[in-house]
Amino acid sequence: MLFDMKLAVVLRTDLANWQRANVTAFLVSGIAGTVPSVVGEPYVDGSGNRYLPMFRQPVLVFEAAFNAVSAFTHGNIRIPSAADRALRWFIVTPDVHRLHHSVDATETNSNFGFALTWWDRLFGTYRAEPEAGHEGMTIGVDQFRTRRDSRLDRLLLQPFHDDAGPYAINRRWKAG
Ligand SMILES: [Zn+2]
Repeated sequence: MLFDMKLAVVLRTDLANWQRANVTAFLVSGIAGTVPSVVGEPYVDGSGNRYLPMFRQPVLVFEAAFNAVSAFTHGNIRIPSAADRALRWFIVTPDVHRLHHSVDATETNSNFGFALTWWDRLFGTYRAEPEAGHEGMTIGVDQFRTRRDSRLDRLLLQPFHDDAGPYAINRRWKAG
């Protein structure tokens, strides 16, 4: 079945369950109240029970993890290099984590650590700097570089593509 639109609600994972339910209900009811075309007709079931009209369009609910550590490691910020060198003995700085998002699979398969750099040092996956430098490196996934690849439906299907490309962990490979 084809729908002419889909509603997507993205919830923060740090909300309590009752808040998730409330936020979703309030948000979609706002859309239903403002865009009448998304709501169908009232209906009656086989036993004669009458129901209010419901959404004609699918409502997809997602959760988005948000926490301070992730915001810090993904931040586009520059820490003075002396401070960065000292910090990265312990914690993952934005410069450390940036390599993990490189299109170069050898760099992608490094710096997996979320908060502490010890794990990558212990397992030999720590890399200090991107080969092209922080200004010159390309962020992203090599197989998914077009604008179309960023559409929600394509993003959701990407994990099921049979071509994992060079991304598989420990498969050392150079992009380009
Ligand atoms: Zn990341």
